[in-house]
Amino acid sequence: MDLAQKVLLPPGGLSLKWTRVHPIGAGLQNMGNTCFLNSALQCLTHTAPLANYLLTRQHSKKCVETEFCMMCTMENHVIAVFESSGDVVRPIDIVSKITSIADHFLCGRQEDAHEFLQHTLNAMHRSCVSNT
Ligand SMILES: [Zn+2]
Repeated sequence: MDLAQKVLLPPGGLSLKWTRVHPIGAGLQNMGNTCFLNSALQCLTHTAPLANYLLTRQHSKKCVETEFCMMCTMENHVIAVFESSGDVVRPIDIVSKITSIADHFLCGRQEDAHEFLQHTLNAMHRSCVSNT
């Protein structure tokens, strides 16, 4: 099947608005020059359509990836943030896989938030395509 013909969600299968009221969520601990990463993760975590999808665990229920999967990682992250509202979460699963997300990034080095966001979205896209 042509990649352009694959459908990840049926029409109407994704709500663009929050499907329920969530508590504020957790803050993210700075693990040493990870503020660029934390800010991008907070934006993604609080993007309603993405969070709605990830909180259903639809991806991980069907995921067949045996190596690193950015969608499974983001799913775990978003769930942890909303389950730990008012607390602090350490995004260790993402920090430890930084080179799987962007191979030129280094742990502990300050990086660009916008660039990290682009690489994260690309990694999530690759995970979706490889799982279909
Ligand atoms: Zn996955």
